[in-house]
Amino acid sequence: MAQKYELVVGLEVHARIKTKSKLWCSCDAYWFWKNPNENTCEVCMWFPWALPVLNEDAVNLALKTWKALNCDIPNFSKFDRKSYFYPDLPTWFQTTQFDEPVCKKGFLEVYVENREWKKEKKKFWIDRIHIENDAWKLSHTSNWTEVDLNRAWCPLMEIVTEPDFRSIADVKAFLQEMQKVLRAAWSSDADMEKGQLRADVNISLRPFWQKEFWIRAELKNMNSFSEIEKALKYEYKRQAILLDSWKEVVQETRWWDAVKWESTGQRWKWWAADYRYFPEPDLPTILLSDEKIASVKKCDLPTEKYEKYQSEFWIKEIDAFILSSDVELSQFFEETAKISWDSKKSASWILSEFIKFLKEDLIKISESKVKPEHIWNLIKFINNWEISWKIGKEVFEEVYKTWKNPEDIIEEKWLKQNSNEDELREICQKILDDNSDLVEKYHWWRDNLFWSFVGQTMKATQWKANPGIVNKILKELLSK
Ligand code: ADP
Ligand code: MG
Ligand code: ZN
Repeated sequence: MAQKYELVVGLEVHARIKTKSKLWCSCDAYWFWKNPNENTCEVCMWFPWALPVLNEDAVNLALKTWKALNCDIPNFSKFDRKSYFYPDLPTWFQTTQFDEPVCKKGFLEVYVENREWKKEKKKFWIDRIHIENDAWKLSHTSNWTEVDLNRAWCPLMEIVTEPDFRSIADVKAFLQEMQKVLRAAWSSDADMEKGQLRADVNISLRPFWQKEFWIRAELKNMNSFSEIEKALKYEYKRQAILLDSWKEVVQETRWWDAVKWESTGQRWKWWAADYRYFPEPDLPTILLSDEKIASVKKCDLPTEKYEKYQSEFWIKEIDAFILSSDVELSQFFEETAKISWDSKKSASWILSEFIKFLKEDLIKISESKVKPEHIWNLIKFINNWEISWKIGKEVFEEVYKTWKNPEDIIEEKWLKQNSNEDELREICQKILDDNSDLVEKYHWWRDNLFWSFVGQTMKATQWKANPGIVNKILKELLSK
């Protein structure tokens, strides 16, 4: 179905900054094992006499993200109080930033899959980024609502984009890339399930010929890629029906109901009212010297790695995409590539074998004892035709479990292959004799059958034969 309206989306991404303590006090920023309200103090309960102190780590960590997002970082920025009422915000204001945010103008380049399933590089602009604190947490039961301040005043970065997204694929690719960048900069774990990455999604539609943007609705607090996709589809339809019947879209905050699969309008009408921003009187301004800003190094971006792995290491596109998506994985691969002259095989070994074990054990690379040297030493044996790929897998399983060197395991387990030509010639001859009908056909079909003879010989030797020698002998015997 041809689309009548163009989708226009802008995002407000909230990312939890990975500090040890909260934004304005020394309470723990990670409290999951604590009882409700145990992780609090006079500051994060906002007692009138308690004064907040800015956690410098939050600024330092956020700086790394701002560099990664190519932002302008002003030397001066300040905090403001944004007043609104909501039950999880009993102070009636949030300490955030208004006209002097820590960052202005940045961008993120993202590969988005187009209609032909090709990845296309697009640039999405970031309007501003500010630091602010998280709210309290309310849990509703049928009879009452529980208030928990453990999360109160944890540090967040809010990244506000321009309304640059024109499709659901744009939005998804951007958010997924943002998650990778936050992790690459080590500034946020950005785990959506843990609420460390949330987005407010602003949506409007406009006829394709029109230049101005039309009125938008805002879907608050979305924290799953798949729910965002469903919600966008729903909102597109809802707004298209309104526009078709010449009705206006109302500018409002809406909530996505993941159970009913629909969005509903705001319950708190006074929300959209004047926020009455004014400078936060209890906090000093943030001053960042040019030297300080220059001293923070920009991290390698996942997209840069993705490109480099293909152009410099000749890695397949899909493998390059997976390897570059995860900081630890890409570091491990790069270290392996540094010591190996077969980066392609190193990549495929890491992706096919190593990851399989990590997934089974549900652990991260850093939690495993396998080192890049293990991988490369093992591949060397395979590349030198000393062991088959299949035996290589068995050896790797041992490496993974015992962290022994592959050469020791091969020695110990007598896995080193059989290179005795006479013995192998006998086995090959037997295989050919047993398959005399296929040998007849070999002269017509050649390659396919040749590899089946190799395979059968390898199997007959429990994959311990030297594949190079088997190759040679079979060719000899077959050409007779
Ligand atoms: P506010 O200050 O009211 O929050 P902003 O101009 O800062 O408004 O925009 C908030 C978010 O809404 C941004 O991510 C922006 O890209 C997005 N946005 C603004 N106008 C539109 C529109 N017409 N359609 C879709 N998104 C929009
Ligand atoms: Mg807003
Ligand atoms: Zn506290």
